[in-house]
Amino acid sequence: MNKRIFLSPPHMSGKEQHYIAEVFESNYIAPLGAFVNRFEESIKSYTGINHALALSSATAGLHLALRVLGIGEGDYVLASSFTFIGSVNAILYQNAKPIFVDSDESWNVSPQLLKLAIQKAPKKPKALIVTHLYGQVCKLDEIVTICKEEGIYLIEDAAESLGASYKGQQSGTFGDFGVYSFNGNKILTTSGGGVLVSPNKEWIEKAKFLSTQAKEPFLHYEHKEVGYNYRMSNVLAAIGVAQMEVLAQRVERRREIFELYKQELSSVEEITFMPEIEASRGTRWLTTLTLASTNPYKIIEALEKENIESRPLWKPMHLQPLFAEEMVVENGVSETLFHAGICLPSGSSLQEGEIVRICRTIKEAL
Ligand SMILES: *Cc1c(COP(=O)(O)O)cnc(C)c1O
Repeated sequence: MNKRIFLSPPHMSGKEQHYIAEVFESNYIAPLGAFVNRFEESIKSYTGINHALALSSATAGLHLALRVLGIGEGDYVLASSFTFIGSVNAILYQNAKPIFVDSDESWNVSPQLLKLAIQKAPKKPKALIVTHLYGQVCKLDEIVTICKEEGIYLIEDAAESLGASYKGQQSGTFGDFGVYSFNGNKILTTSGGGVLVSPNKEWIEKAKFLSTQAKEPFLHYEHKEVGYNYRMSNVLAAIGVAQMEVLAQRVERRREIFELYKQELSSVEEITFMPEIEASRGTRWLTTLTLASTNPYKIIEALEKENIESRPLWKPMHLQPLFAEEMVVENGVSETLFHAGICLPSGSSLQEGEIVRICRTIKEAL
């Protein structure tokens, strides 16, 4: 049997264990310490944002963003429907109501439908959580403008788009909050982790307070509101510091992998690749494509036989049983993409020979 090819496995730089050894020498095996600070600094300097908070996951970051913005029971939160559940679970943690917005040709939130969703909402939504799907930035100019005009907070789910940019500015830095994920399958990984960023110092300080059990500033333990245990471990932050040193290379490689797939499969009329909007540079976190008439499962099963992992595209949130009762403004785009699309192995450690083998399997199956 061929060695398994995974969708997006971790890709260490080699420096991780060196930094972990430093953590052990210092004995700060804790959710605080020099590497947590260094990790936050590296995010700030790479993305150009002023404030960052290292957390146990991106999901935790989204939860804290909603808490800090005062979103709770009876409030409405607009969100991308075409996304991963981690993007929107926090809306439910806060007992708020999601309103899902479908995609346009960019695969990301349609600005037109976003306007329509705001008009149709039973009451004015307080925030929008927008996903930069598969590392491709959404139509930020239009979406930022709509949110500003309507007085709606913008939270960017940049879990898949760390290192992506729009008009030269890093994804995650356009809104009131942004979150990056360091889960095991993302561009970079700390095995699990997330970073919440914001241009607003008070908000990040408040999020930090809530992420460490909401301890009031007394020597004894005094609590006035509910908090969480969401901080990142210093050991994992050491991995993160080493990973951030190679972010540019990792994005570059994922983009190269996309181009290699495109070359190999250019003669196949069945296949259309995910587009990239003008003035943007996505991460190509996963190379994704749609098939004109073939059932994606046919390809997924053919690849599986060769010990190659592939997946359907995200199933839109408005089609999930969990959200059967929730409001959606849809046009059929994400549903159509879901039924026609697949994600191919895209890890930055993927070899050219492996790409050729994957493409050969796809062509044979077609
Ligand atoms: C991975 C992912 C998340 C969740 O990230 P975690 O760090 O695992 O909590 C949220 N949104 C999107 C779009 C993701 O891909």
